[in-house]
Amino acid sequence: MGKKLEIIPINTGEADVKKMLDIFWSLSKETGVVTVPILTFLIKGAEVPLLVDCGWREPERAMNVMKLGPHRAKPEWDLARQLKKHGVEPEEIKYLILTHLHYEHCGKCDIFPNAKIIIQKTELQEAAAPLAPEALEVGGKALFYDRQDIARIVSDLWDRVVLIEGDEEIVSGIKCILFKNSHTPGSQAVYVDTPGGTSILLGDIARNVYLNIEKQIPPGLYYDLRSMQATLAKLQKDGKFFYPTHDYEVLHKFKGK
Ligand SMILES: [Zn+2]
Repeated sequence: MGKKLEIIPINTGEADVKKMLDIFWSLSKETGVVTVPILTFLIKGAEVPLLVDCGWREPERAMNVMKLGPHRAKPEWDLARQLKKHGVEPEEIKYLILTHLHYEHCGKCDIFPNAKIIIQKTELQEAAAPLAPEALEVGGKALFYDRQDIARIVSDLWDRVVLIEGDEEIVSGIKCILFKNSHTPGSQAVYVDTPGGTSILLGDIARNVYLNIEKQIPPGLYYDLRSMQATLAKLQKDGKFFYPTHDYEVLHKFKGK
């Protein structure tokens, strides 16, 4: 066994969203708005540093193009700057794993010139031609896939894109696990062998560990309910520690872990 794998959550932004996103569909009585972080995850201790997700392109696009609520960015949340604070230059990132291609997960791919970009093939196909109802008032007619991100992935970044189909080990102790038709058609979770058990980076498959994993109540956004329920059951069985993308508790709980 080599060095221990360590997961470092990094916040890159903040958005005000409906709390209902955490809880099963319209049966929720929840009407509140909650401020959530936009996390990315640096993994150290493998042969090379890896990053899981990379935040959004710019908050203005989320508000103006996607027609979503308030989004905020601060200079101190700049991803490259924070990586440097953790002793990692963007050039050193050799793998950038994208849990899915929603705008707040794949907006900064271009700042990692040496990274292979790991994406599920299904996710890219569906992101390029999303099942977006024209009349939907949010999502920019693309269901939260920013057309500019997808265009860049299939053009400028294409040489470095690695499409995978299903479950795959990326480096020793770090695996991508496909959960089809859960949060998105090709969402993947990242399983990391950490001291004490398996840590799972969830993307947005689950948003709230208590509700979605412990209580097994699906979150508000999913493609197929049966797939989502099977996904949440498997995650609960497989994982010891859970890292959703949009929960400040992750930052507090796992800081310095
Ligand atoms: Zn998402």
